[in-house]
Amino acid sequence: MEIVIATGNKHKLSELSRLLPGVLSSGESVVYKGLSDFNITLPEETGTTLEENARLKAVYATTQSGLLSLSDDTGLEVDFLHGAPGVHTARYAGEACDAAANNQQLLRALQNVPADKRIARFCTVACLAWPDGRTKLFKGICEGSIATEYHGINGFGYDPIFIVKELGRAFAELTADEKNAVSHRGKAFRQVKEFLLKF
Ligand code: IMP
Repeated sequence: MEIVIATGNKHKLSELSRLLPGVLSSGESVVYKGLSDFNITLPEETGTTLEENARLKAVYATTQSGLLSLSDDTGLEVDFLHGAPGVHTARYAGEACDAAANNQQLLRALQNVPADKRIARFCTVACLAWPDGRTKLFKGICEGSIATEYHGINGFGYDPIFIVKELGRAFAELTADEKNAVSHRGKAFRQVKEFLLKF
């Protein structure tokens, strides 16, 4: 079976390859393809929720490739900012921004905000889309808080400033396996894995 992973982010592709099954319980092996295998460029994420954006990407990839597709959309919700950056997490510091600019923007927005008001969570919505039009959503949440400074060098995006509640450490201080065990994406994709194994 072939599945198209609808992401252009190579960090995510490498995290996902550790989370998804190589062989189904039927014995059938699964080959994961990237968007570049089909020359697919994802459309703009115009949805107003993570669910809408995840569905939009998976449906587009399956329409273009003719194969089962899997997408994910992730947002960071900060309580003090009333859920922002949310669906705008990737472009929090502006259209052409990078992770460093996003992190600086968030630290600035929370300047002088005390520790107990820096509560945040990462949410991932994963979506499977079939060529016949069916879709299925899976959600994973990781509770935590926003640090006041950078911690660790691993990972990507907001990892150096997101402190995982259950560990008291930043994502960027964890190994890839430690992060997957507790992360939003790990939780969402373990559900995808269980579903695919039974599929
Ligand atoms: P996407 O929708 O999954 O592409 O993610 C949206 C934004 O959230 C991007 O800016 C990512 O860098 C950031 N992001 C997604 N997942 C993580 C994560 O596991 N750690 C830190 N940042 C993340």
